[in-house]
Amino acid sequence: MNYVVKIGLVGDYAVGKSSLMNTFVKGEEQSRNDTTIGVDFNHKILKYENHTFKLHIWDTAGQEKFRSIVRSYYRELNVVLFIYDKTNPESFKNLEKWLLEVDTINKNKKLKIVIGNKKDLDKDRVIPIKNILKFTKENNLIHMETSVKDQKSVDLVFNKLVEILNEKLLSKEIELKTYIPFDELNMIENKKVKKRNIESKCCIIC
Ligand code: GDP
Ligand code: MG
Repeated sequence: MNYVVKIGLVGDYAVGKSSLMNTFVKGEEQSRNDTTIGVDFNHKILKYENHTFKLHIWDTAGQEKFRSIVRSYYRELNVVLFIYDKTNPESFKNLEKWLLEVDTINKNKKLKIVIGNKKDLDKDRVIPIKNILKFTKENNLIHMETSVKDQKSVDLVFNKLVEILNEKLLSKEIELKTYIPFDELNMIENKKVKKRNIESKCCIIC
């Protein structure tokens, strides 16, 4: 099957949402240094077992002035990555607020993962691990850590995400839209044209 997955990156300003998206999609930390205005979009295809997952990634702006644009994108999401900066306790504290905001707008069954980013800068574990465990346990969330300086840590998040989605699809805990890939669409269209040509030739002969 070919699935479309709508993924939202949510969290405070400057936690690294755009950097994470660029690292995953383009293999580079940041192609632009500017602030995200409203919502930015990118996509990448991952294969898992017999399935193809087309990941549509919506990188949202964390600033208050863009909130109303950003909120309109929440409704469609299948996966939400709640991102905080491991060196910024405030961004971790604000996850409660982000969680509530997304859940209020999007009541669908969705996969929620908490990402502690900038682990390369967090030598002293600024946010105590017990606080992180408490929060993720209470809210039934998966927790992962990333650094955009370490491509593997970023890829791991998206590979894990696809693996979990695959399980949830099997157990019918989540629903995803399917799509027909472009080359298959072309094949179907070519077959139709051939059929029409054969039919029209037949009529001439008759
Ligand atoms: P956004 O506002 O959440 O989209 O954050 P950005 O992606 O714009 O990142 C804000 C700043 O943090 C930029 O200067 C990035 O280069 C930096 N940054 C993002 N992720 C990391 C990381 O994992 N490690 C380090 N050291 N810096 C990062
Ligand atoms: Mg951004």
